[in-house]
Amino acid sequence: MSERIAIFDTTLRDGEQSPGCSMNLEEKLRMAKQLDALGVDVIEAGFAIASDDDFAAIREVAKVCRRPVIASLCRTTPADIERAWEALADAANPRIHTFVATSDIHLQYKLQKTREEVLEMSRNAVRLAKSFTQDVEFSAEDATRSDLDYLCQIVEAVIDEGATVVNIPDTVGYTIPSEYHHIITTLKQRVRNIDKAVISVHCHNDLGLGVANSLAAVAAGARQIECTINGIGERAGNASLEEIVMALRVRKDLMPYANSVVTEELYRSSQTLSNITGVQVQPNKAVVGKNAFAHEAGIHQHGVLKNRITYEIMTPESVGVKTNSIVLGKHSGRHALGKKYEEMGYNLTRPDLDKAYKMFTKLADQKKEIFEEDLVAILQDGFTQIPERYKLRAVQATAGTSTLATALVTVNDTKTDDSETQTSSGDGPVNAVYQAIDKLTGMSGNLLDYTVRSITQGADAVGEVFVHVEFEGTSYTGKAASTDIVDASARAYLNAVNKALYSQERRKHVQN
Ligand SMILES: [Zn+2]
Repeated sequence: MSERIAIFDTTLRDGEQSPGCSMNLEEKLRMAKQLDALGVDVIEAGFAIASDDDFAAIREVAKVCRRPVIASLCRTTPADIERAWEALADAANPRIHTFVATSDIHLQYKLQKTREEVLEMSRNAVRLAKSFTQDVEFSAEDATRSDLDYLCQIVEAVIDEGATVVNIPDTVGYTIPSEYHHIITTLKQRVRNIDKAVISVHCHNDLGLGVANSLAAVAAGARQIECTINGIGERAGNASLEEIVMALRVRKDLMPYANSVVTEELYRSSQTLSNITGVQVQPNKAVVGKNAFAHEAGIHQHGVLKNRITYEIMTPESVGVKTNSIVLGKHSGRHALGKKYEEMGYNLTRPDLDKAYKMFTKLADQKKEIFEEDLVAILQDGFTQIPERYKLRAVQATAGTSTLATALVTVNDTKTDDSETQTSSGDGPVNAVYQAIDKLTGMSGNLLDYTVRSITQGADAVGEVFVHVEFEGTSYTGKAASTDIVDASARAYLNAVNKALYSQERRKHVQN
């Protein structure tokens, strides 16, 4: 029987901290459900004390995801730990994850504490966490730049207090595989009680070594890897989950360890995250990039199926990439649509299927072939649970090389059921549309980012627009898909407006 590697996903915590990747509660829940389907062992759902939104996300994820361990991050202060535990109260398998920096650089410049003080803080933190739950993880932040003797001392102390997982993070992405292997080996040899805890690793990708370092640590005895979907995370990101899992699968001959990830869900997990955040992976990204299996098409064309093994170390199917992507057409019925969604892993309720079918027929009128991506876009566009205060009724924009762009927009205020129309001019048609929407909603948005991408193939492709818009100092994402870019642009912007209004409303509730 092979030894197990636990996969600890921190997409919702470390990943969410990366620029442009913030998610609201509904989006975090959708991602968490996908991570559950992916089979990860641990979902780190947030940093409870960091914000009310983080707190709420941990609580809701813990309610919905009952199989995996749900972790909340916290510093070593009692208030932090208590807040983490409060967020985890309803979890089936809660884990408190407490951390403190252990490198002299951090001790001197950030914490202004002595090594003895930090040792004491760590002991107390684990002791307190342990009074709430059996499952306690301790992280020695900046471990790879910490004095190794001190690191050994602190790891031994927290295990004595009952830490069940000790994490040795490469917080700043500084180490290299041989050095990291040496650090883990040293801990295994010198820490008296090391067999009472699981050694965990958490690698950042500042030098592009996150995955390599994680695997080097596994070779030295680490049995939990912390990672994120698409490798998102602080700065250059974290070690990428899909690369780690596929390396373990493809090179089982050299790394004979089991893990519980359903690799066929990797591509969908990657797509779900990109869809939520609007941040796409680069085309040559290993495992989930658009070109990761690009030679496939050529080989298919030539019918040289026998030769697959010559260039392919893993199949697209093994990571959930489907090669036959045309799925439905104009004449497909509701039943076929429901069945297709089921095959894709979505079980829609009757009303949801009706809603999806309505959108599907509308789309099928506009384009001949419907791809799986279209069906995912339908779900993601039509099922965002943010209440729609403003709905787009009509949009018209004109632009040209010699004229000022103008727009005419009509929106419906669902609160009063009034529809109103405004015109505006602007620097380009999209800008004109956004100015008109600002007038209609009374919200003044600052557009930080605007991207458009084609999500399906052909001239009649569906384009998807992502926006990051700042309202009163907070940035919101918005997105919408349509065969008409101006229409998608307007609805993406309104999506951000509605999110901003919803979040302002919720904040009011919290204050009252
Ligand atoms: Zn990190």
